[in-house]
Amino acid sequence: MKEILFSRKLVTPNGVISGNLFMADGLIAAIEVSDSPSSQAHDCTDDFLIPGLVDIHTDNLEKHYQPRPGAHWDAIGAALAHDAQCILAGVTTVFDSLSLHGSKDGLNRQEAFAPMIEAIDHATEEGLLRSEHLLHLRCEVTNPLLLSLVEPHLDNPRLKLLSVMDHTPGQRQTAKLDRFKENMIRAGTNDDDFHSMLEERTAWRNQEAAPKNRQTIVALAKEYGIALMSHDDESVEHVEESHSDGCIASEFPVSLIAAQKAHEYGMLNVMGAPNFVRGSSHSGNLSARECAELGLLDIISSDYIPLSMLRAAFMLSEAPFNWPMPKAIATVAGNPARLCGLIDRGEIMVGQRADLVQVHIAKNGWPVPRAIWRQGLRVA
Ligand SMILES: [Zn+2]
Repeated sequence: MKEILFSRKLVTPNGVISGNLFMADGLIAAIEVSDSPSSQAHDCTDDFLIPGLVDIHTDNLEKHYQPRPGAHWDAIGAALAHDAQCILAGVTTVFDSLSLHGSKDGLNRQEAFAPMIEAIDHATEEGLLRSEHLLHLRCEVTNPLLLSLVEPHLDNPRLKLLSVMDHTPGQRQTAKLDRFKENMIRAGTNDDDFHSMLEERTAWRNQEAAPKNRQTIVALAKEYGIALMSHDDESVEHVEESHSDGCIASEFPVSLIAAQKAHEYGMLNVMGAPNFVRGSSHSGNLSARECAELGLLDIISSDYIPLSMLRAAFMLSEAPFNWPMPKAIATVAGNPARLCGLIDRGEIMVGQRADLVQVHIAKNGWPVPRAIWRQGLRVA
């Protein structure tokens, strides 16, 4: 294994430089500005060298746990497949974002929740995973079983992020029920199916339990020192509540007014990379590109497509955005790391973890990860 990496496009927080990066004990030991590779260096030539990505929101694990509706897959096998997709997308730290939610597409998330966490715990202990897997619990506040599901995991050292949310149809993300229905019909759902889906997404909820559940999660986040985000904020009132609850970020704000209010309060805005790359939100809400143009975009997460994160970050450095490369890369590395209290990674700087991605730009513009190191070890 080579301990030295050379690139003409090393993306540091202060600019893009040509140089040799020396790794030792899993960390970046030195960076030397140079036009040529040091002998023994792994030569990235004109490929970019960027910090490993930190993805704070992905439900990609669920997709592998139940690859088709009703078809459950082995939990360790699912963890391995999910991990492979993350690392090959340049994501060296991933927050497996598990919904404490009812059923979706036939997956009973309540039942699936514990086996998925256990599988990642086991695979981590056995050293089977190439990305570092942390935990983001998505706390659906209308779930009557919410607290009993969260409590057993509060001492899990991998738990670094909590978010509070309410996906009751007709609220927040699906505030415009007509539009929601229109989207579902367009996607091939018929009228009867729509009504039974609405029933499936509503029946198990307990609206009365929601305020108390939310306040308990807020208190637990404080007690355990876990970063807290709000989710799908739509109105000024939503953001005011999030801010007074101690949320440090607004995840996927669904309206411009919510994203603006979050910034006024010094909260960061997290948007989904698929929304950014596609050019619009699939549910017809706030566009991540619009957020970027207005200076309201701080963090990009992969949401449901691991490779979309890298693409979104590089698009930010191109027209019409033209963000400086360090600022664009910060949205997928330094900013999400700091939000969750991970001060040891996310930037190419001496002393930071040697989590690094060599990125080749394909002719059609796609950034392609070519080599990946985690804590100094080549893992892909
Ligand atoms: Zn949502």
